[in-house]
Amino acid sequence: MSKEMNYGDDYKFIPATSIGSGVGKELLTDLYQHTIQVVNLFFYGDSDSNEFVLIDAGMPRSFDDIKAVAAERFGEDTRPKAVILTHGHFDHVGAIIELIEHWDVPVYAHELEKPYLTGEKDYPEPDSSVEGGLVAKMSPIFPNEAIDIRNHLEPLHSDGSVPHMPGFRWVHTPGHTPGHVSLFRDEDGTLIVGDAFVTVRQDSLYKVFTQEKEISGPPRYLTTDWQQAWDSVKKLAELKPTLAATGHGVPLYGDALNEDLSDLVQNFEEIAIPDHGKYI
Ligand SMILES: [Zn+2]
Ligand SMILES: [Zn+2]
Repeated sequence: MSKEMNYGDDYKFIPATSIGSGVGKELLTDLYQHTIQVVNLFFYGDSDSNEFVLIDAGMPRSFDDIKAVAAERFGEDTRPKAVILTHGHFDHVGAIIELIEHWDVPVYAHELEKPYLTGEKDYPEPDSSVEGGLVAKMSPIFPNEAIDIRNHLEPLHSDGSVPHMPGFRWVHTPGHTPGHVSLFRDEDGTLIVGDAFVTVRQDSLYKVFTQEKEISGPPRYLTTDWQQAWDSVKKLAELKPTLAATGHGVPLYGDALNEDLSDLVQNFEEIAIPDHGKYI
């Protein structure tokens, strides 16, 4: 790996997985979800075209897996027009350096996420004291150091457009991280959520493994601003999405999605915010 870019010193494979790991699913003709261990990433683009955009970059050491899925869906020698990051947590940038090296592709993220992607600022330590089971307990091993991809990073455009994803706009959804974004397409109500909310509780290793559906706020041990996180969920609920593709868990659709989302907005304190923890 070139010295020009680096993951933090705490970068490592994380031994956590789910029954969905390795499974792909076409959510729409132009949106494909692929699960790596416990996280989802998304390929935007029709499978009969060879043009695509990758949204998020998987877990540490998942480069071969991502490359294989891209080749299978879009052809051996194709490469994405861009990678869009919802945020810079380790489970969303795990293969980004190998992907940049292999594909020589620009990476876009929100301006406020830049310090964590240019080696300037580490994310806060995961809060293992937060209530909620084994995933929180294992969170001290999660990488939180800034990665450095500065020479390949571009800010998302201030007009709200998403590069190479016509019809989509980015929506700033801070709280989980300062520069967290979700992507929304007004025409059909498609929402790529990132971790602004998730559909599997991240605080139970058992539920993460079985991917039992249960709408929840952002993963607790890494969320630092709960008021902002709540406001962000409200913002997304107001969009009335028809499909929510989340960074963790299964996609939600239609009425069930809107019922779950308004439930989350109404009862955010109960459902999402832990009773105790460093960032309360
Ligand atoms: Zn995250
Ligand atoms: Zn995540």
